[in-house]
Amino acid sequence: MPRRKKTAVKEEEPALFEEVKPRASKKPKEAWEEAGDLDEMENMILDCQKCDLYQTATNLVFGTGNPHATFMCVGEAPGADEDAQGEPFVGRAGQLLNKILEAIHFKREDVYIANILKHRPPGNRKPEPGEIEVCLPYLKKQIELIKPKVILCLGLTAAEGLLGTTEGLGKLRGRVLSYEGIPVMVTYHPAALLRNPGWKRPTWEDVQAARKLHDKEVAKG
Ligand code: URA
Repeated sequence: MPRRKKTAVKEEEPALFEEVKPRASKKPKEAWEEAGDLDEMENMILDCQKCDLYQTATNLVFGTGNPHATFMCVGEAPGADEDAQGEPFVGRAGQLLNKILEAIHFKREDVYIANILKHRPPGNRKPEPGEIEVCLPYLKKQIELIKPKVILCLGLTAAEGLLGTTEGLGKLRGRVLSYEGIPVMVTYHPAALLRNPGWKRPTWEDVQAARKLHDKEVAKG
């Protein structure tokens, strides 16, 4: 009996390299996410109601300064003066911030100043995690549009919000951290300096270091 020729069984190739379709993003983009500049973005978010703070606030405090700034300061949230005027850091802490900036040879209008929260928390209480979560994307978009060379976080809330860190201010000061590849430094909040004048010296050292880093980053091009 002739032996039957074995017919080769064609094995299915394992689907090792199956193409994975990118998962469609869950949420459709909001109009402000596509804004081409800061003015356009500000107009699009002026009536923000993502958290309850708009109910007690007078103005949305978007940010101020040079839209092409190479140095950006990030604070916590507007206080009473900022809420009334619609501009960040215009109260006593703001006057001190202006002096700090002058000490490192920046004018307020050279840099860009914004906060983690755009609306004032009642009684200047600390921002709540849910408020930070819904408001932070605005700051991130501002950073994307401005493309600063260095960001200076004023106080722990700013650092926690932007960097998602849980380290204390003592651990964060004096280091060059990073947000999306942008060097970040952290110092005391000017309002804390008003309460603790002893922190002025270390703040002076922090901002001198931030200025040096800025000049180095700008020189790199
Ligand atoms: N404190 C902040 O953090 N931001 C301001 O705009 C004013 C005071």
